[in-house]
Amino acid sequence: MGMFTGKKGLVFGIANDHSIAWAITQQLRDEGAEMAFTHLPDKDPERPRMERRLRKLVDDFDKFIMPCDVQNDDDLDAVFAKAKEEFGEIDFLLHSIAYAPMDDLKGPVHGVSRDGFKLSMEISCYSLISLCHRARDIMKPGGSILTLTYLGGEKVIPGYNVMGVCKAALESTTEYLAHELGTEGIRVNALSAGPLKTLSSSAVGEFDQMVKLYSAFSPLRRNVTPEEVGKAGAWLLSDMASGVVGETLHVDSGYHIMGAPPHDAKIGE
Ligand code: NAP
Repeated sequence: MGMFTGKKGLVFGIANDHSIAWAITQQLRDEGAEMAFTHLPDKDPERPRMERRLRKLVDDFDKFIMPCDVQNDDDLDAVFAKAKEEFGEIDFLLHSIAYAPMDDLKGPVHGVSRDGFKLSMEISCYSLISLCHRARDIMKPGGSILTLTYLGGEKVIPGYNVMGVCKAALESTTEYLAHELGTEGIRVNALSAGPLKTLSSSAVGEFDQMVKLYSAFSPLRRNVTPEEVGKAGAWLLSDMASGVVGETLHVDSGYHIMGAPPHDAKIGE
């Protein structure tokens, strides 16, 4: 029997097999979870590229797949109505979504457009609020909600720019939601992952530099693997973490604890 046998949940944010949500999903699947998934709506229904790319990964085990743009309340309502119909109640929800328009993400932060800021915050932060608001109607006490964040929300990471501002808001939002939903027995947490090559991270400036820094400066002197992030994510969503609430768990080879480079770090080489 797996850790998730008999447990049901919703996963938002698998774009492809590099997605962090996919790394977590594989662990959940292997532990027996029943899951439903969403993808961004396809612009051309004749060529459903988004749906196809998700279906390729989850076709063998999904309960259902639905289009959902988190900016659209009708999409969100439809997903939760379907989840209620198919699952009755759910045990977990994974929010693994972020976006900022390229021109705004490039920085500088003081030059970010008003519309770009609103859009980035809406998709990367408000979406967690809108998912939690709907999830509480169908989530069992003991349920768990997890979002993904990055160190750039706590400290300045050059190149992360407006997304760092969004992650700071997301981490604070996680705490407020954890406080509110805690009284209903629902846990909300965040996982702060080290850099992993994905569609989203490829848009972040200086990503390759960050990968080098993590392997030189982190206590483990290496980057984390998708599997390590997947395992920690599944743990936070599981009953094994039943006392963990409002936490931002760093899964980053320990990079976040360093205040100065280790003695063996080769700087500028
Ligand atoms: P990813 O595979 O590109 O996942 C991002 C997901 O967000 C995609 O599935 C994307 O859908 C979805 N999305 C964007 N706008 C959306 C919208 N309006 N409605 C619904 N879905 C939308 O990249 P990832 O790296 O796994 O990112 C997942 C999360 O991890 C993000 O919050 C990211 O900030 C965080 N994170 C990533 C890293 C890293 O190094 N990769 C490190 C720490 C934290 P489409 O692809 O279909 O647009």
